[in-house]
Amino acid sequence: MSKNYIVGFPRIGEQRELKRVLEEFWAKKCLFDDVLKVALELKKRHWEYQRDAGIEYISSNDFSLYDNMLDTSVMLGAIPKRFAHLSGEELYFTMARGNEKCVAMEMTKWFNTNYHYIVPELSLEDNYSLNATKIIEEYSEAKKLGIKTKINIIGPITYLGLSKRVDRGNVYELWSKIIPIYEELLKTISTLDDEIIVQIDEPIFVKELDTKVLNLIKPTYDRLGRVSPNIKIAVVTYFEHSNEATKILVHTPIWALGLDFLHGDENLKSLELIASSGKKLIAGVVDGRNIWRCDIVKTLTLLEDIAKVVEKENILLGSSCSLLHTPFTLKYEEKMSSEIKEWLSFALEKLNEISLLSKLFFDAESSLDEREKEAFQSNTEANKKRKNSPLIHDKAVQERVKNHKKLQREGEAKDRLKLQREILGYKDLVTTTIGSFPQTPELRSARSDFKNALISKERYEEEIKKYIDECVAFQEECGLEVLVHGEPERNDMVEYFGEQLSGYGFSQNGWVQSYGSRCVKPPFIYGDISRPRPMTIDWITYAQSRTNRIMKGMLTGPVTILNWSFVRDDMPRGEVSKQIAVALSDEIDDLQNAGIKIIQVDEAAFKEGYPLRSAKIKVYEAWATRDFKIAVSSAKKETQIHTHMCYSEFNDIIDTIEDMDADVISIETARSGNELLKIFKKVGYTKEVGPGVYDIHSPRIPSVEEIVKQIELLLEVLPKEQLWINPDCGLKTRKWEEVKPSLQNMVEAVRIVREKL
Ligand code: GLN
Ligand code: ZN
Repeated sequence: MSKNYIVGFPRIGEQRELKRVLEEFWAKKCLFDDVLKVALELKKRHWEYQRDAGIEYISSNDFSLYDNMLDTSVMLGAIPKRFAHLSGEELYFTMARGNEKCVAMEMTKWFNTNYHYIVPELSLEDNYSLNATKIIEEYSEAKKLGIKTKINIIGPITYLGLSKRVDRGNVYELWSKIIPIYEELLKTISTLDDEIIVQIDEPIFVKELDTKVLNLIKPTYDRLGRVSPNIKIAVVTYFEHSNEATKILVHTPIWALGLDFLHGDENLKSLELIASSGKKLIAGVVDGRNIWRCDIVKTLTLLEDIAKVVEKENILLGSSCSLLHTPFTLKYEEKMSSEIKEWLSFALEKLNEISLLSKLFFDAESSLDEREKEAFQSNTEANKKRKNSPLIHDKAVQERVKNHKKLQREGEAKDRLKLQREILGYKDLVTTTIGSFPQTPELRSARSDFKNALISKERYEEEIKKYIDECVAFQEECGLEVLVHGEPERNDMVEYFGEQLSGYGFSQNGWVQSYGSRCVKPPFIYGDISRPRPMTIDWITYAQSRTNRIMKGMLTGPVTILNWSFVRDDMPRGEVSKQIAVALSDEIDDLQNAGIKIIQVDEAAFKEGYPLRSAKIKVYEAWATRDFKIAVSSAKKETQIHTHMCYSEFNDIIDTIEDMDADVISIETARSGNELLKIFKKVGYTKEVGPGVYDIHSPRIPSVEEIVKQIELLLEVLPKEQLWINPDCGLKTRKWEEVKPSLQNMVEAVRIVREKL
């Protein structure tokens, strides 16, 4: 018995096959049957990979053509009215992506990951009915291959907790309507085989829940646990501890509990309870959120600790969460240094780690065959090498960061702003943009040609300069007041900096699903971080040389660089971020010395790095704020520091924003009128704010009148002296045909409003 368990597996495919076929289908270049064919091949291949690696508990229904939450809505028949006239794949993809007539359902982040799910829209009027087709089909597809899977479903409490009520009211009011559908589902599943394991994901249990919600756990799992004697339920949580829920679940008729011991080590406190309940424990000990090779020896120690309390008999050994959040495999990485590659492990490699771990833990080392012995040895050696590698440890960086004393800028914001306004001389309601301008196909191909050595550096730089020239000329013509260079040289706002910092690595094929067919390829931080040379000075000073207006320098902040990378696991995140901050402070100093007077330090991902539990939130806020301040600490009083944050609720982080002490902050607000801004007034915020006046996520061109209205709404909340006027976010995903008239309208709107004032 291997007794090992994979919570879930990536589905996009090792070569992003699912992405490709979906996008072809959406572009009407292939049929839905082609999508189904690719999907079936992928499912089969993924099951076989797991079986061949020696995994005992393999899932079905972890696959999805778009998203598992969306699948759950379809399973329950929770279809919002505006889609009611549609059916089949058209219904499914329209819910996810919208069409000319129906807006798509909202999408938001899955806990603290970069995966996005489709938010269910529920109402008291809904009539739910079971659609178990997908679940049954996937189960039989695997069975045909001779693989008996566990069936993954998203649990009712998590499903409801992540939903929104379109008729206002509490989502949990729908509990009594939804539970019967789950019961019916389990009944249907129970007819599929003699005995079936159903994995019910309840990640919401890792959050701090109201008593009302906690009180739903017992009735839910009492009912689901009693549907059929041949169904064994495993309730699985991840990303944090779920001790409050565990206390309740041990008294329900479930078979197993799956807990994350890496991101929720406090789960260790629940071991006694689990042991005395006699339930199985699925011990999540191999990281599903990171890319590092598991330290087998260390993990065995953790497992032995667990086994001191819970009988080995009752332990299954697994991934900490679904492997969806890691890239697929290292096998296509050809460019990476072999030394660094040795330290990494993606989803496929993790299967082998879990398999090896279970042999060692359950059967002892003597049971290993030759190949496994070698794998064990190579694991131990690689981890030892990584610990001592000079690639990772840079004494000079460590010393410098440790002794970095300058923790914030000089002067009070009020005095700084006064000085800056004298020097910069901008008007009230000053216009600007967030940084990027359209990334054109020509730009993308120039960049990729340059990377593949098809064009020379000179040729590439000419191309970028040409773009900057045109971008600057357009902004001047349009009448924008604070200009940007347009970020044509940046593929991505984190990757660009990662490529220039030491301590950063990149994969060629390390794609991770972000939503639907969209994947991201985060760079990874493996070692101490430093800045061998300036990163942005040449481009920004070139852009400044093309205009007499103020050119804003553009950097990505330390917290965002960290949050959008895979981060080394041998150092606290706060220390890594401090290293990045110190490197950025040098960049800021170089920029101001080169004559750049305004510098924007983007913290787009500041909010999304928030931990799930309040005790950890405090710690995060402390170092994240500290590091932003360290990054900008080199700025002189007269250098104006901006920051930008993407759409997020500001109510709970306003104190943190205040503390970050940026002279100007731009935020996404267009879709919520002046609502988001009110908190700034409420707390008596006195620095300057640039609330976005139009939504950049849609190709729609906002009219002058509409922007005037939006500005007037903003003026109801904050005085003109405090307001900057800009779009919601960067424009890189838009086309020039959209950007030009939109910005012209924005400038015109400001002219009209200024005249009225
Ligand atoms: N400066 C970046 C840009 O304009 C900011 C992007 C972001 O906030 N996501 O693209
Ligand atoms: Zn943004």
